[in-house]
Amino acid sequence: MESFNLIQFYQKLGTEEQCQDFLFKSRWAHGVTCPKCGEIDVKTYKLASGRIKCASCRNTFTVRTRSVFEDSPVPLQKWLLAIYLCGSYKKGISSIQLGKFIDVTQKTAWFMLQRIRYVYENDSFELLDGEVEMDEAYIGGKDSNKHHSKRLKTLTGKGAQGYGSENIKTPVVGMVERGGNLRAITTKDTGSNTLMTLACKHININATIYTDEHMPYRTLPKLGFKHESVNHGVKEFVNGTASTNTAESFWSHLKRGINGIYHHVSAKHLQLYCDEYSYRWNTRAMTDGERFESWFSHVNGKRLTYNSLIRK
Ligand SMILES: [Zn+2]
Repeated sequence: MESFNLIQFYQKLGTEEQCQDFLFKSRWAHGVTCPKCGEIDVKTYKLASGRIKCASCRNTFTVRTRSVFEDSPVPLQKWLLAIYLCGSYKKGISSIQLGKFIDVTQKTAWFMLQRIRYVYENDSFELLDGEVEMDEAYIGGKDSNKHHSKRLKTLTGKGAQGYGSENIKTPVVGMVERGGNLRAITTKDTGSNTLMTLACKHININATIYTDEHMPYRTLPKLGFKHESVNHGVKEFVNGTASTNTAESFWSHLKRGINGIYHHVSAKHLQLYCDEYSYRWNTRAMTDGERFESWFSHVNGKRLTYNSLIRK
């Protein structure tokens, strides 16, 4: 893949037609799969109207059909620039800032960012392997920088006042393969069932899992995982190789971003923000241009309507 800075971006994707061609090639690099009849590698015709006609079912569609761009009145030029910027800002970009950059309202920019994040959602079935750190964090509310052990102290101590409903934190479980990929999943709780289900779904049974002393992790060996833990409570942050430092560094990055850029993220939308930060983490070896291009390999079939986003 070629490099792609902002100037090159402007040269290659400066017009609506360039953007349409780019989207066509990105979505259907190995032949068109008709979004209407589903036929693979189908012959198509470009009509004078700009619509694409399927030779098999004779229906017409556009490069936007059955993707997050469907039904959006925003030109592709603005969409593509938004995707580039969202991937390039390491801590994320606010809807206010994006709205100014591409000249749309803050509300439109927010909805675009949610759709962009939706495509970041992890759809890979590749299991984490080798040395995997598993850890939980609590995001949201006013004191989101605290680890769960400190938070529990706050909850049971005098600091417990002020925990109104808007201050309720959402647990996020992080699993990160050292030197590899990361998953961050929002959950209802951090009980044994939840944690063990996530471990089985995302981690190879031959991996060694490093965690803190949180009780439910003690079930891991019963499932067949090798398990090492570190006791944060007594400041034993590194027990041989049993640290959760990689996960901790992701949490601090995520929390700094959410507190500094987005200020407040509600529980129902938090997963999409986790997907955004995980995606940038998982593509950290890529250039901004490569990250931009890789986004399009996940775009097919993904739609997110305003109603489903708000209802969720
Ligand atoms: Zn068709």
